[in-house]
Amino acid sequence: MSVRPYRDIQRRPSRRIHVGPVAVGGDAPISVQSMTNTATSDVRATIEQIQRIAEAGADIVRVSCPDEASTVALRDIVRESPIPIVADIHFHYRRGIEAAEAGAACLRINPGNIGSRERVREVVKAARDHGCSMRIGVNAGSLERDLLERYGEPCPEAMVESALNHIKHLQDEDFHEFKISVKASDVFLAVAAYQGLAEATDAPLHIGITEAGGLRSGTVKSSIGLGMLLWSGIGDTLRVSLSTDPVEEVRVGFELLKSLGLRHRGVNVISCPSCARQQFDVIKTVEVLEQRLEHITTPMTVSVIGCVVNGPGEATMTDIGFTGGGRGTHQVYLAGVPHHRLKDEAIVDHLVRLVEEKAAEIEAGRSEPSAAAE
Ligand code: SF4
Repeated sequence: MSVRPYRDIQRRPSRRIHVGPVAVGGDAPISVQSMTNTATSDVRATIEQIQRIAEAGADIVRVSCPDEASTVALRDIVRESPIPIVADIHFHYRRGIEAAEAGAACLRINPGNIGSRERVREVVKAARDHGCSMRIGVNAGSLERDLLERYGEPCPEAMVESALNHIKHLQDEDFHEFKISVKASDVFLAVAAYQGLAEATDAPLHIGITEAGGLRSGTVKSSIGLGMLLWSGIGDTLRVSLSTDPVEEVRVGFELLKSLGLRHRGVNVISCPSCARQQFDVIKTVEVLEQRLEHITTPMTVSVIGCVVNGPGEATMTDIGFTGGGRGTHQVYLAGVPHHRLKDEAIVDHLVRLVEEKAAEIEAGRSEPSAAAE
């Protein structure tokens, strides 16, 4: 019995597949993905962007392969990438084969769109030979014409039917290492499609709200859509699609998972919006603090609260708490207990040091059992 049952999320049971070394589905952690937006043929630029995406915590990265120059470049990109690569293929089955040969860990390809059964067979063979999984990616904006004619417009039922049709192509080839997405830019449509698909298959689901918008609007849309799905246990891997630096997609993805207690990475900052009662500049402090703590990957919670109205209460539930006090004397809490006071200067430096010390302590504690086992 959970201590706080209102926080429990029962994940939908799904089959486990692999994208390179990353498990997707079953009880594997929900992985976070992003996608490069460099020209794939520009190997250097693509690798640099992948490195930034990986440093932000992404587990998997997708790379478009629109032409042969891209699949040629993919070989070098795969070699240097610290995380597995999903090659994004549309229509051209040859690109799929080339990408598998180049070392892609997964092919994003819709088997129903690549032509004859023979072509599907060739792509599946290449995937099998090179240990690639696949992602079927249904998108409301590019549904098959016959489905649109029958349903009149993109709707959840049409999207699920499209997904099941693509699945059938792979099942006919006895290929089961695939995950599926049914994305739409409309939150209602995407959520309903995923709910339908979750009932119809046990394949792992890649969730996302496609073309969600810029950093602010896209984050809100994704939080509603992906939040609903994740809260109800649906979703094995996710991508937040934003018209901005892909690194932001990774950050937003992790914030989403952290908010629902589904994954923990880095510092979860709890801060108040500030008001006339604040005893130090909360907004500026949090802004700088969050930047300075980006390198911390150890999960922990830090509260930064402007005054005693909510500060002591929030601090009881955090690893490190900071509450503004009168006359420039602020209170620092460790493990929820008042520990020492701090004058007005160098608040951020002080908190960063405390967080780094705490992270080192947690990491040392983690490595102890395995050291003992050796
Ligand atoms: S915690 Fe204090 S400073 Fe922050 S918003 Fe509330 S009353 Fe204002």
